[in-house]
Amino acid sequence: MNPAARPGSDTSIAPPRALDADRVREQFPILRRQIGDRPLVYLDSAATTQKPQSVIDAVSRYYEEINSNVHRGVHRLSEEATNAYEGARKKIRTFINAKDWQEIVWVRGTTEGINLVAQSWGRSRLGKGDEVLLTTMEHHSNIVPWQILCEQTGATLRIAPIGDDGSLLLEEFEKVLSDRTRVVAVTHASNALGTVNPIREIVALAHAVGAVAVIDGAQATAHLPVDVRDLDCDFYAFSGHKMFGPTGIGALYAKREHLEAMPPWMGGGDMISMVTFRETHYSDPPFRFEAGTPNIAGAVGMGAAVDFITGLGIDAIGAHERGLLEHGTARLGEVEGLRLIGTAPHKSAVFSFVLEGIHPHDIGTILDRRGIAIRTGHHCAQPVMQRFRVPATARASVSVYNTRRDLDDLVEGLEEVNRFFR
Ligand code: PLP
Repeated sequence: MNPAARPGSDTSIAPPRALDADRVREQFPILRRQIGDRPLVYLDSAATTQKPQSVIDAVSRYYEEINSNVHRGVHRLSEEATNAYEGARKKIRTFINAKDWQEIVWVRGTTEGINLVAQSWGRSRLGKGDEVLLTTMEHHSNIVPWQILCEQTGATLRIAPIGDDGSLLLEEFEKVLSDRTRVVAVTHASNALGTVNPIREIVALAHAVGAVAVIDGAQATAHLPVDVRDLDCDFYAFSGHKMFGPTGIGALYAKREHLEAMPPWMGGGDMISMVTFRETHYSDPPFRFEAGTPNIAGAVGMGAAVDFITGLGIDAIGAHERGLLEHGTARLGEVEGLRLIGTAPHKSAVFSFVLEGIHPHDIGTILDRRGIAIRTGHHCAQPVMQRFRVPATARASVSVYNTRRDLDDLVEGLEEVNRFFR
């Protein structure tokens, strides 16, 4: 990922300090695993990142020392659990530079965050004649919730196309945008192509027609700096597990004015101020949107993940991954019959590719025998596959713990695939 290339970013600042990937690797116990008689080469971080010891310890320590329910108890453990849980929320606030902690809603992940916006913000506001604008490169999590909303409200889904390199065609986007557009929902970075979108520009265009901008940040927060105030987006959803944190936890950022005007999405405990059988008064945001006992350990773990990223420096992570992107792109270019799908100039370190005449699942299976973990399939982005007229791709994706060696191993593995099938 290239933070310096992030549209609108300040390139005049000092270069980030170099990151020692071998030392970083030592913090990830799973990377010591063998697959058969080979060391694990993990190239599937876009699906989920591995977890550093500090995150694992934070979750274990939570269960060993303070496990209790939050908000409702007067006893010591409950107070400590509440402090840990709310403290993690404040870390998220700082991490994405939200204005205040009330703008951070804990959710299960990006998918739940987007569904929450669609149902709570969208359902009471959209109707016939209104439009929701997406792009061709969206993950199903940023398509299906809007399809459901359109079915419920009579609104129409519109799609902005992408070019042959996987970039969003901004001029086409502007043509589809109109005063009928009520929601623009766009991914910050594509999991299937790697494309990094010019979010600030997209948000400004959305606001110019009176639409809200919902950003899918699942593939961004572990790779590039995210500043929601600078982006000026209305909503920003992301997942803990894609940024070194646990599964089952994520955060939805929403501008406070939106949250205050939104009805609850789910009802239950912890989201009310008063209940009678006649009526219920809801809590203020963000608690109004957090019915039931939350994933407390997950939130604590996600807070530790933020500390991990901040400790290394997101710019240093970005610079490291940019080096891997350059190296991997050059090395993969040497593999006979390989075609990269997604070559946008602003791109994260995701290598989606096809090998002529060989099914991606066969590629994945042969690589697995060498201990190399990649993902094959449609990556929950079937419209991208349709756009590029492929049934599936093989995808290698890197993170802070990957090295050039990993990509060299991948290339050697792909040469074996070619020997096997050609
Ligand atoms: N959006 C993008 C771009 C993704 O890559 C993913 C996961 O792969 C999601 C959304 C959904 O994230 P989660 O399954 O954590 O809710």
